[in-house]
Amino acid sequence: MVSKHFSLAELTRSTIALRHGIINVPEPEEVINLTRLATNILEPVRQHFNIPFSPSSAYRSMVVNRLVGSANSSQHVTGHAADFEIPIIANDDLAHWIKENLTFDQLILEFHHPDEPKSGWVHCSYHAGSNRNQSLIFDGSNYREF
Ligand SMILES: [Zn+2]
Repeated sequence: MVSKHFSLAELTRSTIALRHGIINVPEPEEVINLTRLATNILEPVRQHFNIPFSPSSAYRSMVVNRLVGSANSSQHVTGHAADFEIPIIANDDLAHWIKENLTFDQLILEFHHPDEPKSGWVHCSYHAGSNRNQSLIFDGSNYREF
């Protein structure tokens, strides 16, 4: 476990890596980043909403990250970021709670359409020492602040 409710296994799980027979194993420094992400973002979210959840994607090796079509600069590659949703909670409620209550680097409400509360997912990163508290909504074509 990297924190009370989150394991290293679930933060490095990748269906695309499995499908391609690629190992998705973080370096020790990336494990430290994942631990900080779990401690400072995932655990407070878990405790506040009191509903179990498991991120759909956290650490991605560069090879895995390219396979999912993500930019090389993605914070998933360094173990700073996770994508997640919480069962029965609207994704914009989740994003707004994080924005108002936590310190983070970048928070993105991804592929969210306001008329569909469960659409998209929440991407959030934590970067010790350089958290920007930047919050964005991405509707599939444009980013705007929220
Ligand atoms: Zn993400």
